[in-house]
Amino acid sequence: MPDRLSGRGVSPGIGVGPVRAIAGAVPEPPAGQRHQGDAGAETRRALDALEAVAADLEERGEKAGGEAKDVLVAQALMARDPGLAELAGQKVAGGSSAARAVYEAFGVFRELLAGAGDYIAARVADLDDIRDRAVAVLLGVPMPGVPDSAEPFVLVAPDLAPADTALLDPAKVVGFVTEEGGPTSHTAILARAMGVPAVVACPGCTALAEGTVVLVDGASGEVRPDPPEEEVARARTESAKSAFTATGPGATSDGHAVPLLANVGGPQDVPAALANGAEGVGLFRTEFLFLDRTTPPGEDEQEAAYRAVLAAFPYVVVRTLDAGADKPLAFLAAAEEPNPALGERGLRMSRRHPEVLQAQLRALARAARDLPVELRAMAPMVADAEEAAFFAEACHAAGIAHAGVMIEIPAAALRARDLAAEADFFSVGTNDLAQYAFAADRQVGALGGLQDPWQPALLDLVALAAEGGRPCGVCGEAAGDPALACVLTGLGITSLSMSPPALPAVRTALAAHTADQCRRAASAARTARSAAGARERARAELPGLSALGL
Ligand code: PEP
Ligand code: MG
Repeated sequence: MPDRLSGRGVSPGIGVGPVRAIAGAVPEPPAGQRHQGDAGAETRRALDALEAVAADLEERGEKAGGEAKDVLVAQALMARDPGLAELAGQKVAGGSSAARAVYEAFGVFRELLAGAGDYIAARVADLDDIRDRAVAVLLGVPMPGVPDSAEPFVLVAPDLAPADTALLDPAKVVGFVTEEGGPTSHTAILARAMGVPAVVACPGCTALAEGTVVLVDGASGEVRPDPPEEEVARARTESAKSAFTATGPGATSDGHAVPLLANVGGPQDVPAALANGAEGVGLFRTEFLFLDRTTPPGEDEQEAAYRAVLAAFPYVVVRTLDAGADKPLAFLAAAEEPNPALGERGLRMSRRHPEVLQAQLRALARAARDLPVELRAMAPMVADAEEAAFFAEACHAAGIAHAGVMIEIPAAALRARDLAAEADFFSVGTNDLAQYAFAADRQVGALGGLQDPWQPALLDLVALAAEGGRPCGVCGEAAGDPALACVLTGLGITSLSMSPPALPAVRTALAAHTADQCRRAASAARTARSAAGARERARAELPGLSALGL
């Protein structure tokens, strides 16, 4: 095992714990694999495996509660389907091994479901998951998905998708390490929101043996197996050094206000946002309610979930459903597309299923009705003025007065003035804007350099959005970088929204500089020809940063 592994630190802090891996794909039992002759015993093995999977799903459902429980209990029912058991028994009687018989029995059910229309077809993913679990039991390989653990652990995986982490217990994870993923991948966003140290794009991490204790340094990107105690103590002291003391609303030292808002992914993030002094919510990602579902949640359920966030703040920007590409949803699965990031996703998906958008907007309007909150809705992945107009009209029809658009596609930044005629405000999603400006998939770790929000071309696009004639915030991960937050302010950005743990450092960095220093830093950064050059030139105009240890 190497002495150290290194990757890209995307969520600062030190985490120490045993490795628990998310298992990769469960192998397909070879076609034609046969059992040793006792069909009765082999059938029992197959049925026992299905029952073990059903019982495990039920138990996990009990632990998770709420909506997740309904999904897991429905999956347990599928695993206990008598037709499936009978089919598996027949295949074993024909000579197949238990694993192959179970695999093929699911295959028959899968075909039936896949041909039965959109809604049912979406359940194919559930069925595949149960199949993989049963085959894993029979082959004696690890179960797919997030591991169960009684003690806190470091989660290691090729990469993490929203559905992998929906059931994650935040109290149990002390670090994330992934082979893939960039600074704006789901893993990075989730880790920052949870305040858990994380390293992505870390080659070799999935070869770490289960149970090996590792030290994860989410700032330097280093992962140290079996760390000596002195090293753990030293790393912890170093990481605890900086203290960010500014309090109150976000502003530069000369009083130029820049509201500091939180990115939240559901009611579970509200306490951290409040504890870190968020003045409101600048990005409420609503996908959490729709994950792991085969049908959309009803309006009443949505209303209750939205209300839990709307009741906690005076100002909340809710992003309507952003399905597709890095945020796949079973019930809104797009057709097979060669390039999902360039396909039907975000607002495009909402236009294909307007009833889902309308129900969400109605639920939001109802949730805000008697609360003292300024509710704003914004659409993801808006490309042009016509799309912005469609969204604004849908908002107004549902009784939501303030309709905005995310600027995540270069075309939208280039023609911000056209969009301004239709939308009340902009919010720049620098994660996707970088992805599309540089044609660099945000989920591919090797392209992290092109995803760097300090890239001067990205800063130019942000400047265009800021000059578009509407209030323009930033809610991509760039807003949580203290130095870049000053630069964005200098570019004319009017609010910054970030993972709650990033708020104190950004507030302190802004309070240490004047608006003019921020403007000079922004101009200096834009004269550079590389991300590193932009950072260096900006920092030269922001002397307060190094004094703060930032
Ligand atoms: C973005 O793209 O910058 C953004 C904030 O949205 P998400 O990360 O959810 O795609
Ligand atoms: Mg986005």
